[in-house]
Amino acid sequence: MSARLSFQGIAHQYDALLALRDFSLDVGAGEVVCLLGPSGCGKTTTLRIAAGVERPSYGTVAIDSRPVAGPGVFVPPEKRGVGLMFQDYALFPHLTVLDNVKFGLHQLPKDEREPIAMRALEGVNMARYARVHPHMLSGGEQQRVALARAMAPNPRIMLMDEPFSGLDNRLRDSVRDEALSLIDQSGASALLVTHDPQEAMRMADRIALMRKGQLVQLGTPQELYYRPVDVQAAAFFSDVNICGGTVSGGLVTCALGSFPAADFEDGTRVDVVLRPSAIDLHSAGIGVDATVRRARLLGEESLIEVEVGGHDALLQVRIRGTWLPAEGTHVKASADPERALLFEKATDA
Ligand code: ATP
Repeated sequence: MSARLSFQGIAHQYDALLALRDFSLDVGAGEVVCLLGPSGCGKTTTLRIAAGVERPSYGTVAIDSRPVAGPGVFVPPEKRGVGLMFQDYALFPHLTVLDNVKFGLHQLPKDEREPIAMRALEGVNMARYARVHPHMLSGGEQQRVALARAMAPNPRIMLMDEPFSGLDNRLRDSVRDEALSLIDQSGASALLVTHDPQEAMRMADRIALMRKGQLVQLGTPQELYYRPVDVQAAAFFSDVNICGGTVSGGLVTCALGSFPAADFEDGTRVDVVLRPSAIDLHSAGIGVDATVRRARLLGEESLIEVEVGGHDALLQVRIRGTWLPAEGTHVKASADPERALLFEKATDA
């Protein structure tokens, strides 16, 4: 069971602060959209507006084309058919796990609540803890119960705010995958807030990248990673190497090499942005001269920092395999022109 969720022309003001501006977004039926962006960019505000715990200053929110917030309309949270899961999962400490999950089902007749709650707990592998109290569970287990509580009423839309951020890495991966598969099975649509680009790429059908209360890019994880709209959007997903150059004859040449720039007029100053994985190092052959300054093994990959003549910052390079050249080694660095991201330089100011 799923529903479309749409924000149209939302602005939201907290006193003098404009937390959201001109924000429009459609979450399709059954789609998982991640709101991604740095702290304070308005992600939580957007989610709270969708949930109905915050009323937008301007604009309309609609679920399946029916306005739930807007001029003269306000449908309260419990009538929106949405499931909520927030960072502080806030299980009631005085209730058992089972009663916590049943609590979310208070709109159902009493005798129907327990079997539905037990099924939800089975779905997250927590049925055996039904009779215990939350303080006896680990963080990951409590988060699973919170997930069961949010999913038990079979919401058409799940709204999740950094729900996995309190968990350690390994646990986070497993709870996250579990959440995703439950959402998938139920067919619900989901809007998920995160500041972690890896999490967004792992979970989202589409990512909505936000900055200063505005949507700056909306697209699939591939689109955001490989075709970011600007340097900042590129830098949100990984370290980036940036070198500046001026376009001439359809090419831009900078300290890291020459790159096709047919989309820019001659004389345009551009930033060439290269992710560390878009650069390769060789002991000899083509490429610009570089000197290794630091090399670290990351597992299947190595992160190597090299110095390149005419380029102020150290160049960050990620290479597959376990090659760890010693400091001072002379190498050649070559960048994949297809992976170079070119942006017109904003201003010289
Ligand atoms: P984070 O990742 O840190 O949670 P966020 O992207 O979710 O950040 P919001 O919590 O939506 O951002 O906050 C957006 C802006 O609105 C911030 O500048 C924040 O300080 C401000 N803000 C949020 N809630 C309130 C409030 N209740 N009253 C006043 N200002 C608020």
